[in-house]
Order: sequence, then structure tokens, then C-alpha cells
Amino acid sequence: MRKLKTIIAASAAAALLAACGGGGEQAATTPEPEAETSAAAFAAVDTARISNAAETPEEWLTYGGTYDEQRHSRLTKIDTDNVDQLGVAWTYDLATTRGVESTPIVVDGVMYVTSAWSVVYALDPVTGEELWVYDPDVDRAVGVNACCDVVNRGVAVYDGKIYVGVIDGRLEALDAETGDVVWSTITVDQSKPYTITGAPRVANGKVFIGNGGAELGVRGYLSAYDADTGKLVWRFYTTPNPNKTADNAASDAVFASVANDTWGDEGAWTEDGGGGTVWDAIVYDDRNDRVIFGVGNGSPWNQRVRDPSAGDNLFLSSIVAVDADTGEYVWHFQTTPGETWDYTATQTIILADLPLGEDGATRRVAMQAPKNGFYYVIDADTGEFISGEAFVPVNWATGLDENGRPMEVEEARYADAPYLQTPGPLGAHNWQPMAFNPDLNLAYIPAQEIPQAYTDDPLTPDSVRWNTGVDFAAGLPLDPPEGLIEALRATLKGRLIAWDPVAQEARWSVEHNNAWNGGVLSTAGGLVFQGRLDGTFAAYDAATGERLWSYDVKSGAASGPGTFEIDGEQYVTITTGFGSAFTLAAGYALEETVPPMVGRVVTFKLGGNGFIETVDLPEIDRTPKGEPFGDEETLQVGLVQYSRNCMVCHGPLVISSGVLPDLRWSDYAGNAEAWAGAVMDGNLSSIGMVSFSDQLTNEESEAIRAYVLDQAHLAADGAGGSP
Ligand code: CA
Repeated sequence: MRKLKTIIAASAAAALLAACGGGGEQAATTPEPEAETSAAAFAAVDTARISNAAETPEEWLTYGGTYDEQRHSRLTKIDTDNVDQLGVAWTYDLATTRGVESTPIVVDGVMYVTSAWSVVYALDPVTGEELWVYDPDVDRAVGVNACCDVVNRGVAVYDGKIYVGVIDGRLEALDAETGDVVWSTITVDQSKPYTITGAPRVANGKVFIGNGGAELGVRGYLSAYDADTGKLVWRFYTTPNPNKTADNAASDAVFASVANDTWGDEGAWTEDGGGGTVWDAIVYDDRNDRVIFGVGNGSPWNQRVRDPSAGDNLFLSSIVAVDADTGEYVWHFQTTPGETWDYTATQTIILADLPLGEDGATRRVAMQAPKNGFYYVIDADTGEFISGEAFVPVNWATGLDENGRPMEVEEARYADAPYLQTPGPLGAHNWQPMAFNPDLNLAYIPAQEIPQAYTDDPLTPDSVRWNTGVDFAAGLPLDPPEGLIEALRATLKGRLIAWDPVAQEARWSVEHNNAWNGGVLSTAGGLVFQGRLDGTFAAYDAATGERLWSYDVKSGAASGPGTFEIDGEQYVTITTGFGSAFTLAAGYALEETVPPMVGRVVTFKLGGNGFIETVDLPEIDRTPKGEPFGDEETLQVGLVQYSRNCMVCHGPLVISSGVLPDLRWSDYAGNAEAWAGAVMDGNLSSIGMVSFSDQLTNEESEAIRAYVLDQAHLAADGAGGSP
């Protein structure tokens, strides 16, 4: 652990500023050839093998466990009777202090996981021994394009290769045995702020991958690449091009016939691409040979800025089905027409057979619990809306009509006044995977309540890096009153909900002590596994919600857990790490006892007697490093510019979660020259803090420093209640 302590200390000392790019962390080690192994084949996976994955639960072959993405394992050796005997089998240090969101793949005797900056690890699933590491060596400056930390949710495996989407927009195929690059393809215009955080999916010789970036202004799409060569096979755009002309893409026909008419001819979308990124859910429907994928929010968020014509803006916030061979449109269902709140429909899509037909006959459905707070059940063959109900308190709509269209509350579009809304942009459910138990017909939703006051942005949207048309500075006081932090914390709630999708109601729920939630694993042992941000990894009775076991994994535990069996022994694995969107942005929401920011792979088995090492982090010197300066007007400019340019990484009210430096205690805040060198001249760009000279004047940069020092002195004097 000595290395890790050094890494964290170096990170703190570097005191990087506003961009989310930096980490001060050490890159992964160079791949080293390992001792020979007895396995004959590595990732010898084809479509039939993944289609059969539910019947071979000893392995975990694709991100969601099976093509249906139910995250339900039929393994039963760990069950409700013996789960309390689970102990640590092994841990592996991912050498990162950034967010970890990876679901482990286990195939042909090897575990493949990813970590921050898209690093891929091949491990022995029984011992945790490192077989190889592949680091795509990403330029740290691209981190500023990552809305929600430089995370990665995992790999796909197929025909001897490992596929990873890299944060800078590459899609790469690695040799499953050695980690050597077989091919590498750039899937985005790298001059634009695209990122890839999601796991690729593979079927019938094609790799499916999307991207992110709708907070900063991009045009979304899903692509299919040849699994052997990396050549583009087809692409489906989710928004029109600015001229509403053909792209020579699979989406051309449906835009000409249907989708173009849902967009006006003016507005920021014509320059910013309109958003609609496909950054997470991509499901292969092997019964119909289709890909069903979730589409993200609009860019900018605020529809009045994006497209004043106020049309539905297809295919934002939609679930779309296309032919897997050609990418041709088959059906869509739009969850949030005229999206204006960052209500992505990218969340987990699960395919299942529910007893919805006559006399208990089953109907094939697609289910999603997207950010907007409604649980949707739609026909997987046709996209027809079957049912939908709110799974958390919702105040932007009174319900769904018979076609599944939300009945909006008028004030929710924040046209004339700010509207305090739940869910907010972090959603009633985010990337943390939900699961479904087909024996109990229950879905397990990592649900959250994180309200947000939406306020029209009074300035031109392109003056900021985050390009939303929503004013992040609105309502934030220069001098936070006593109790504000506690009041903000009290609005945040998180829970695990067992949802009956037939009755559309909760069967049971478990309240959490933190809003930001963890991914879910369901097993035929009658168990539901879920981690939490505070490091609690727990198993619940799938039928009742009774907590049967828990373990402190000593870091954030938000990833989707996995399970597998080797030589008759069942294992449960979770990747841990303390980062991602909420954690970066919401330092104010965290208790002072946050777990260390240490990324690990932690694997459990019955009777495991390993342990998880405690890491002592260096104390932060919580004293201001300079005298306060600047009049009230300057401080107000600093607050506004901080909130627009710095807040999403360094935290509202200048309270950092600790993933990136807390600027209040930074030496840079006390040194005008060093500050300008970092903020305006890009002196720290190699560790991810890029220049903001395109966004800020020298006076505004200095006003931010004044605001930061002012907040430092307020906190040092005990105001605001901040940690
Ligand atoms: Ca978004």
C-alpha cells in the first residue's frame, strides 16, 4: 500500500484546479508476459455461447450477465442460509483514486475488469493474480470532457478478443491472452468533447458502441464495428444533422420520414448537435436480431435554448430498436418528449417475459427505470407502451397517459421562474445497473432522490464549457447561512427498491444513508447484492429485503457486482472506487467519514478469510493559504464563474468531495501568479487541468480566486457547516 499512499499524497500536493481531467495518479503498470497457463483458449466466445449464458452461470460473459441484461445468476451455492459466511477471497489494487464502475467479465478462466482512464486488467479469478494490464495511455487533458469522471463500465469479449471503449473515443480490440492491441479505431470526431465510458456489446461479428458528451455539446449515435477488423459497419444517429439532410447512415430513412419534423430549424442544436448520446444501455435482442439502446438528454439541456420550436426532439430520451445487421430503424419509445432536464433514457434496459397476456401467457417486454422517475414496461417486439408508474416521488409530471406520454406540470419547464424538481439531473436512477429476478418477477432498482432547482440561464450557453442552458449559479449564496449544508443533505435520499413490474408497485424497499446508489446483482440463491458509496456491500433476501450480510469494502461500492463459479466454488466480485458524477460534484452531501478513494477488485467466497487493507490518507491542512480580497461585486462574479466553470469537478460552494483537490485549501488560491498560470496558461494541463482562457478573462479568473479564498475563510471560521 505504500505506493498508493504516495499516489494520494502526490495528488493532494499537486492541488490541481477546475478540470476533471487530472488525477495525480499513477498510470497502470506495463503489461508483462505471465507464466504459461493451462487454458487452451481465451475468450473463445461466439453469439450462441452468450445467448446460452443463463444456462452456464459459472461464467459472466457480457456486461449485463446475459443478452437480456437481467443481472440474474442461476448459481445457488451461496444462498440465504449461508450468505453470512461470505468472506474475502482476494483483493486486487487498481492503483487509481478516480471512479470505478466496472462489472467484471469472467470467461475461460480469466477475469477482465476496467478502471479509470479505460485501463483493462486480466486477473486470475480464483487468486486475483495479475495476468496482464493494458493502459491505452489517454492524454489526461481529455478528462475535462468527461461530465462524470473518467470512468469505464467494462469490456466485451468475443472470438479471442477483449473490446474496450476508451475515454478519448477509441474502440480497441485486445488479444484476450496477452492484452496486445489487435486493432484500434477512432469512433468520434476527437476535436469535439466526446467520451466513452460504457461497455461495448458484441453479437454476430459486430461490436456495438456509443459515446457521451451531451453536457458539453455533441451529436449522439450508436455504431456497429466489424469485430475482426474494426471497420465501421453501420451508424444510427439520434438527432438530425443541422440541415436535416441525409448522413449516408442507417438512420437516414427514419429521420426523413419521422424524426426531422420533431425539430425546429433554429436553436443551439444546429451548432451543438442536439445531444442524445448513447452512453450506457445497449441490449442485443437475440430473438429478433435487433439492438435496443437507450438515448441520452438534449444538448443544451434547456429546450428553449436548444430548439425554441418545442417539438418532441426525437430520439432524445428514447429507447430505440434497430436491426442488428443493418442498423435500420424498427421502433422507438420516447420517455421524455421535449427533454429539458437532463432526463436520459440511457439507464439499464432489461428484456424479460412477463405474465401480461391472456390467462397468464407471457409477453416479451423491455423494462427501464430512467432518470425521469417512471418505471416503463414496453413491448420488446413492437415498442408499444404497456405500463408505467413513478418509482420515486415525482413532481414534474402527474403521471403517464395511455400512450405513456408524461402529463407535465406546467411550472416544470422553468420558463418564468426556477422550479425545484425531483428527480433532478442526477436522476431517480443513474448508471448503476438494476437487476431482475425472473423467478420472483421482481426488478431491483438503485433509486435515488436528488432534487435540483432548474433556472433559465441568463447568459449565452456557449460561454461555458458545460453547455446546458441551465444556470448552476442561481440561488447559491455568497455567504451560506447556518444550516444550509445540513438542509441540502436532508433532501438527498437513496434506496434499493424491489419493484413488481406487472403490478407496477414496490414490493419492498431498503433506505440507504446516502443518495448515490450502487449497482445490483440478483441470484437464484434468493439473494440481492448491492454496494453503497459509504463502502457497505450487502446481501438482501430477494423476497423480503431483509439484510442477511454486509461487509465494509473500505471504498465506494457503486459498480454492478458479478458472480461466477470455478471448481465448484461460487464467488461474488465487486469493483470499488470513489468517484463518478455525484461524488465529484457533491462534496457538500458527504459525511466527513467518507471512505478512502481507493480502487480495488474485491472477491468473496464462503469461508474466505482474506482482509481489505486500510489506507490512511494524509491529513489536509484546512487553513486558507492567503488573505481575503475583492469587493462584493468581484466575489459575485467569482461565484458565477466558479459555478459555471469549476463546480462540476471541484464541488458547489467550493466544497470538494476529495476526488479532486478542495480549492479552499490549495496553495494556488494564495498565489495570484500560480493561479493564473494554472487557470489561464494551462500549466497543469498534463495532469488534466486544462486552460480556461477561452472561457474566462484574467479578471474573471482572479475573481474566482477571490471567491475561493472568501469561502476558505468562511469555512475556517466555522460558517456554512462545511467539512
Ligand atoms: Ca447528461
